[in-house]
Amino acid sequence: MKAVAVYPGKPDSVHLRELPKPRLEEIPGGRGVLVKVLRVGVDGTDREINAAAYGAAPEGCDFLVLGHESLGRVEQVGPQVSEFAPGDYVAAMVRRPGSGLYDLIGEQDMTTGEVYYEHGISRVHGFLTEYYVEDASLLVRVPDALARTGVLLEPLSVAEKGLRQAFEIQRRLKVWQPRRAAVMGAGSIGLLATLLLRLRGLEVVTFARSLKPTLNAELAEAIGAHYESLRARPMEEAAREFGWFDYIFEASGSAAVAFESALALAKNGVLALTSVTGSGARLEIQADRINLEFVLGNKVMVGIVNAHRQDWEMGVRDMAHAEAAYPGWLARLLTHRVQGLENYRELFARLANPQGAIKIFCHVAG
Ligand code: BGC
Ligand code: ZN
Repeated sequence: MKAVAVYPGKPDSVHLRELPKPRLEEIPGGRGVLVKVLRVGVDGTDREINAAAYGAAPEGCDFLVLGHESLGRVEQVGPQVSEFAPGDYVAAMVRRPGSGLYDLIGEQDMTTGEVYYEHGISRVHGFLTEYYVEDASLLVRVPDALARTGVLLEPLSVAEKGLRQAFEIQRRLKVWQPRRAAVMGAGSIGLLATLLLRLRGLEVVTFARSLKPTLNAELAEAIGAHYESLRARPMEEAAREFGWFDYIFEASGSAAVAFESALALAKNGVLALTSVTGSGARLEIQADRINLEFVLGNKVMVGIVNAHRQDWEMGVRDMAHAEAAYPGWLARLLTHRVQGLENYRELFARLANPQGAIKIFCHVAG
């Protein structure tokens, strides 16, 4: 079968290769599920792995199959699998457990291990291929009615984690009821976070670089968020107009934007950081002011990576809510479809030049 892979550490090494079809027996305990891949989304992580900024091959292998945002269909299940049947749509969780404490209790998204295992990113092959096998406990069922947009479940799960963790943290306040939120970035994660916050009834301002009109701005406004360009005025000025934000979800890809947004956080607020920033940039920030306001306002800044199973499951429920509240909106995020694994060059060319794109994905089969 075909697969799209890189040689980690070697820039621009993305290529097509031939691999044997995986077998159920590769997963121990009869818990394997063989899945036919239908669609795979790509993001900045894939671009950076191909640029050799990070990424690791599985042990004993010199290449890594890319792709961590998947939708597939079950083809065959092992003897100990009762929760899935052939024909079911599924998405695969990205991170496999390692051997640390958190990993052993199913909280591998919170691992403290230096080494971690992520499909298509770190030490486990990804989904830009025709079939994969995975342990049933790392798959999530996608209802048939949501299959059209099911490939968005992985980025959605990260936004879900950002929200769930904030509520967990804010149990310290006994009565936290956030009313106003800011989302930094209007790419797919930023727009999905905007969606989740709107579904929960918050007033949302989505900040991004580009001036209106853009499709991103239109999509934010279509679900009742305000869109603000950071080119038009500094965030703080906007925050003076709207009021300080009880919750800020940062997904701009820029640490400069992340620290700037810290100045717009309300007292007792939570700033959730999700941008994976690999460039090594240094910048000047208002360190004293940020520190002082965090101290005097009991504010929290929290990092968010990957997602827990409950975030994936909440994501499925919220996709259904989104279809009911804003029919057709999720499908509008799927802006660029590349047909077939063999067109991987087109996929990566798009990713290198993503202007106008929200979610770029490969239509592998089906
Ligand atoms: C993925 C996450 C992953 C993170 C860090 C992101 O692009 O969506 O699932 O944990 O990269 O590797
Ligand atoms: Zn990703």
